[in-house]
Amino acid sequence: MTSRQSGSAEHGGGVRIDLHAHSTASDGTYSPEQLVRSAREAGLDVLAITDHDTTGGWERAAAARPPGLTLVRGAELSCRWYGTEPSIPLHLLGYLFDPAAPELAAELTRVRAAREVRGERIVELLRADGVDVDWAEIRAAAAGGTVGRPHIAQALIRAGLVATTAEAFTPRWLGERYRLPKDDIDVFRAVRLVRQAGGVPVMAHPRASRRGRIVPDSLIVELAAAGLAGLEADHEDHFPAEREHVRALAGELGLLVTGSSDFHGAHKTVRLGAYTTGVEAYRRIVAASSGVGVLTDPA
Ligand code: AMP
Ligand code: FE
Ligand code: FE
Ligand code: ZN
Repeated sequence: MTSRQSGSAEHGGGVRIDLHAHSTASDGTYSPEQLVRSAREAGLDVLAITDHDTTGGWERAAAARPPGLTLVRGAELSCRWYGTEPSIPLHLLGYLFDPAAPELAAELTRVRAAREVRGERIVELLRADGVDVDWAEIRAAAAGGTVGRPHIAQALIRAGLVATTAEAFTPRWLGERYRLPKDDIDVFRAVRLVRQAGGVPVMAHPRASRRGRIVPDSLIVELAAAGLAGLEADHEDHFPAEREHVRALAGELGLLVTGSSDFHGAHKTVRLGAYTTGVEAYRRIVAASSGVGVLTDPA
């Protein structure tokens, strides 16, 4: 006899955990308050706030968390593997690190500044081609949050040049023609700094090939030896075969496996809790951390 209720907590039965979501502190469209409230409304028990290169949403998310929701504080670090030519960008999720750890905090500040430089250059390229977008307006719309291409995408939509964020990321626009590299964090350094800060590093969407070039498994082997704790397998940018591949690789390397929505509000179509993480992997992340604790139900 099978029952949907029969899953044990060890296998995630009943406990819904989404470890990757963005707020207006970066390129999401929900405020940190809306994000935590919506997470609970979506039936989640645990949510990680993981804005790009910032901990700027942590306080507001923490203060607004509704009864029944446990908040994991994290960030998604813009990294790069410099061991190949040209270098390959990749995203590293860092969970439960100390936001005051000086070296990591300095790197996040530096990358956010690099994003501003690069954003303004992209706007200059667009304007040189006669596209009427305005950097000051784009920055204002980001409202102090980490600026990214999704904010430029909104300006292209406002200008009537594209209909959707997805269209803005096609090769004709921000996907290639007007894509410029950022000055990212060396991925080995990022893994080290997250660990140093008591955090737990997990590679985000390692096989998301439709976003650009992906790193070889041999790099993931090296990163595991350098302190990487886990791999995000279940993600909308992974095909089923890629999810299985990531799972198998994690198994070989003794890494934990996560699944997450990578929710961005209206900037993407994916919904909160669309992919989830098992309780066992979540417990391993919490056990491996020593930076900040999870914030449990305030009630
Ligand atoms: P950036 O961090 O400025 O390089 O911009 C990358 C961000 O753009 C990612 O974090 C996603 O939020 C978003 N993004 C990338 N590709 C797409 C896409 N095809 N459709 C919508 N958003 C995308
Ligand atoms: Fe994003
Ligand atoms: Fe990402
Ligand atoms: Zn993300």
